[in-house]
Amino acid sequence: MHRTLIPILGLGLTVACGSPPQTASLAIHDVTVIDPLSRQVLPDHSVFVSEGRIVGVEPAGGAAFLATDSLDGSGRFVIPGLMDMHVHLFRDARVARPTLNLLLANGITGFREMASDCWDATVEHAFCTDSLRELTRDVAAGGRTTPRPLAMSSLPINGVSQRGGLPEGAPEFLAPGTADDGRTLAQWLNARQIDVVKVYNSVPRDAYFALLDEATGLDMEVSGHLPLSVSVVEASNAGHRTIEHARDLPVACGSYSDTYRKVMARVVAGDDGVNGPSAFERIRATLDAFDESVCAAVLTTLAANGTYLVPTHGTREMDYLAGDSAYRANDRLRYVLPPIREGWEADLDRTAGASDDLVEMYGEFYALGVRLSGMAHATGVKVMAGTDSNDTMIIPGFALHDELARFVESGMSPMDALRTATATPAEYLDRSGDLGTISVGAVADLLLLNADPLADIANTLSIEAVLVGGRVQDRATLDELLVSVEAAVSAWDGGADP
Ligand SMILES: [Zn+2]
Repeated sequence: MHRTLIPILGLGLTVACGSPPQTASLAIHDVTVIDPLSRQVLPDHSVFVSEGRIVGVEPAGGAAFLATDSLDGSGRFVIPGLMDMHVHLFRDARVARPTLNLLLANGITGFREMASDCWDATVEHAFCTDSLRELTRDVAAGGRTTPRPLAMSSLPINGVSQRGGLPEGAPEFLAPGTADDGRTLAQWLNARQIDVVKVYNSVPRDAYFALLDEATGLDMEVSGHLPLSVSVVEASNAGHRTIEHARDLPVACGSYSDTYRKVMARVVAGDDGVNGPSAFERIRATLDAFDESVCAAVLTTLAANGTYLVPTHGTREMDYLAGDSAYRANDRLRYVLPPIREGWEADLDRTAGASDDLVEMYGEFYALGVRLSGMAHATGVKVMAGTDSNDTMIIPGFALHDELARFVESGMSPMDALRTATATPAEYLDRSGDLGTISVGAVADLLLLNADPLADIANTLSIEAVLVGGRVQDRATLDELLVSVEAAVSAWDGGADP
């Protein structure tokens, strides 16, 4: 609708012929709007926010809205808040709080925690599904300003070989060995109101497929690592929803996939005398067997099934840079709590102990993974940005920007890279139009940037302000968040490891 607007001088009011101006609590004036959902770029527009949602996106200078507060958007760019689809808070409030601050300070306004549930509610300093649910309600109600938890996941589900790691008194089906275990587990998780069943390497085939079938019937999804005995195509055809980490796909893209899957099925089953390949053998065989035409067929299947890919490339980058002194001297490590950092150092030392040949292959494997994200995207596979934050050298918040840069390196346009952290996660969450877009009716989770992310994806870091439900965190507030994390690092009391 076009309105003719007549300013009435002296009264400081603006009247629209036909309808009076609507009120808004906040306006971002004269800004370039980048909407990843529609792929539209609208220079010289104003965005109006009321009660936590976007109520108007209008050409600048119009008078359809009167806003109480405003932000100057001139020369700036507004994008939806970013979503990180693979984060770990480690179920510990002492880790969760600084992590949430790092995410927010870096413009991450929503995240998927990938190991939310505690088997045992008596864990000290617990920050598990109950805390995440409380936080979700609190952010939605305009209470605390933190990133929004987007889904509740189970703890990683391992196979029967990992039963020794279960807490005392936990039912054995939590590490399922049979199809019956898988079904019982799905029902148990459903009663705990879990959305995402996160599976891990050692779940046996029968248990995995039964778990997946039962979970799907209960309106939960199964995501995570692929069990080692299951191929990417089998998992995708069975309805596995998101494949995490750039690890399974490279194997699937060649003739090594069958060999590997068969031997690992025997290893997982505990067959006497059967050992899996070493990292060297596995990666060498994967690289040697890589075949672009096999890969194209696999990716076509993933695209047809709507399987999402969350490659978390930073985890593979760590493998090959573990011994690199510049990498290990990352200035952002000042935001990492001492016990986490100690764990990282140990992991880095272990990984850096690989032979030169293996380190070189890790580099090739990482590069292949990045290349596959570009191929996947070009084939129509839905790729989402996730980081594995708090895993070794994955520094929460900053890591998501690194991942977006890798997606551009893989061949995506900057707009498509932005979609991996906005429109695509919203679609995955069945919240398209509600999150990850700048359009009327959407939640006002926004980033105001000082430079154009479509000109250079690194400009997603040029953050002037972050809005969560329309609540503005300006640059000074974001800097305070970063300082608070550094203070938490300094003040760490040396207590029990989180
Ligand atoms: Zn993870």
